[in-house]
Amino acid sequence: MCNDDFDDNLEDDFDGEDWPLPQSGPIAKAFYPFDSEEPFTTCTMCQKDLSDGTDYIIEKARKGSDVIFELAMCLSCAEKMRNQLSKDSKERIEHYMNERVDFEARAQHFLDNPSDNIEDYIGHCVVTGVAIDLNEEHQIYSYCTGNEMIYSAMPYAMSGAVMEEIQELLSPETKQEMDDFMDQYLIPDDLRDLLKGRPVFV
Ligand SMILES: [Zn+2]
Repeated sequence: MCNDDFDDNLEDDFDGEDWPLPQSGPIAKAFYPFDSEEPFTTCTMCQKDLSDGTDYIIEKARKGSDVIFELAMCLSCAEKMRNQLSKDSKERIEHYMNERVDFEARAQHFLDNPSDNIEDYIGHCVVTGVAIDLNEEHQIYSYCTGNEMIYSAMPYAMSGAVMEEIQELLSPETKQEMDDFMDQYLIPDDLRDLLKGRPVFV
C-alpha cells in the first residue's frame, strides 16, 4: 500500500475537513466490466489484485449500450496519473469543479438520504444536474474498497458536454505527458488510444 500521498491530496481537495463515515454496499452492476457477471478483480494499469481490501476507482465511458472504455485503477496508479497533470491544468480543473460542484454537500445528501438505486447517483450529471442522456457519450465514476462500493460524493456521472469542457482545460504539455504516461503500461492498444487526451480521474 502506498496511498499516503493520495490521501493527502484528497484532504487538500476537500479542505482537510472531516467527513462523516459514508455508506458502503455491493458494487453496482453498472460498474462491472462489460459482459461480466463479476466485478473487476485487478487494476487495469498495474494488474494489482483489488480483492484484498484495496481502494480503487472505477471509471467507464458509455454511449447507448456500448462501453467506450472502462477501467479499474488502484489509488497508487490514480495518483501517478494525477501527477501527470501540470500545475496549471490541475488548478484550472479544480477551479472549474469548485465553481460548480459542492462535493461535501453531495456526500452529506447521500448520508442523510441513502439509496440503493444506483440511478439516484448516476442518473444526472454531477456538474450540471441535467439528466444523463444514455444515448450520448457520458462517463461514470465510483470508489470501491475490495468488494464494496462506497456511496458518498461518488458514484457520479458526467455528461459528454462537461467532459469536453474539462478536456479543454488541459494544457498541451499535460496532454502529451498523459499520453507518455499511458505508453508505460501494458494495456491493450485500443484502450490506450481511447484514453489518450482524457482526464481519467478529476
Ligand atoms: Zn494500479
